Amino acid sequence: MSVDFLQLANPGIQGLMPYQPGKPIEELERELGITNIIKLASNENPLGLSDAAKEAVAAELAQGGRYPDGGGVQLKQSLSARLGVMPAQITLGNGSNDVLELIARVFANPEAEVVFSQYSFAVYALVTQAVGARAVAVPAVKWGHDLTAMAAAVTPATRLIYLANPNNPTGTWFGKDELIQFMEQIPADVLVVLDEAYIEYSEDADFPDGIELLPRYSNLIVTRTFSKAYGLASMRVGYAVSNPQIADLLNRLRQPFNVNSFALAAANAVLADDDYLQRSIETNRQGMRQLQTGLESLGLSYIPSAGNFIAVDVQKEGMAVFQSLLQEGVIVRPVANYQMPNHLRISIGLQAENQRCLDALGKVLGL
Ligand SMILES: *Cc1c(COP(=O)(O)O)cnc(C)c1O
Repeated sequence: MSVDFLQLANPGIQGLMPYQPGKPIEELERELGITNIIKLASNENPLGLSDAAKEAVAAELAQGGRYPDGGGVQLKQSLSARLGVMPAQITLGNGSNDVLELIARVFANPEAEVVFSQYSFAVYALVTQAVGARAVAVPAVKWGHDLTAMAAAVTPATRLIYLANPNNPTGTWFGKDELIQFMEQIPADVLVVLDEAYIEYSEDADFPDGIELLPRYSNLIVTRTFSKAYGLASMRVGYAVSNPQIADLLNRLRQPFNVNSFALAAANAVLADDDYLQRSIETNRQGMRQLQTGLESLGLSYIPSAGNFIAVDVQKEGMAVFQSLLQEGVIVRPVANYQMPNHLRISIGLQAENQRCLDALGKVLGL
């Protein structure tokens, strides 16, 4: 008997499309037989792993045969001191992706609605569908979250709202007053997840800090990550900060050892390395300016971004331009899967990488 396992899968899983990661450098090298490839496709930190993180990981190897500290006590203490919250408010995750999914698994179900914005981070739709909840994607305004429309989309069935500030892949952001006005309209029993994966890069004085708003809104969950400004993308460590009761619930479902020892050690080390963070921010600031200026000279428009990436309108099918850029040894991110077929998302790299990307774009577009 031949079994169609698709029919056996849970309904939410049957229609699921896997998350599309950026193309790895090694894979392209093998395909094209070329070297010296640059990757500006996954919003990774172009400075690479900090020395402090490398040393912490190396020192951890001696204990590599043991389970990690499942409570992440030390890292939670460091974060607690840094953020001015109680350790009991923190849920550590295998990347913030892990906590974004945990939240959906704890609070959403097939009777629930989950609200997020058009063009927002793909993981929100993915975890919503995985738990069988109904996704309510609210049309964006100027590529960004329409918070007024999102508040209006709340119904008695709404359990969760995902907000990304700034959003990936658009880089759009909203200000503090807008966020407060939004929170004031949301019923206290609807959870708002504020994904601040790129908050360290924000320069706008009006950019909200979700942690500051936690005492005011017990239904707010803020998520952050070590993958971007802290340069630990490969390690997989992120976290949620919420009221302790929510943290307790997330903790019940969390895998007991969801953050490994090397990630814990690296995160602790990099959190204490303020110099690395400042260099990350400064490299991004300069690179963002360089790319913006370069794109303007090429006559290409882009969406203003508060992240470490920029979405560029290439005025034709982005997928084809992406392919041509690969031939030049430059990996960027097509975003057709976000209904943005004419855009490419370019992560901010080091100066020479940004220049190569601009040169390659000019060449393949004939500009
Ligand atoms: C990169 C990213 C994340 C999380 O990445 P992790 O590596 O899982 O911490 C979360 N949200 C957004 C919007 C991102 O772009």
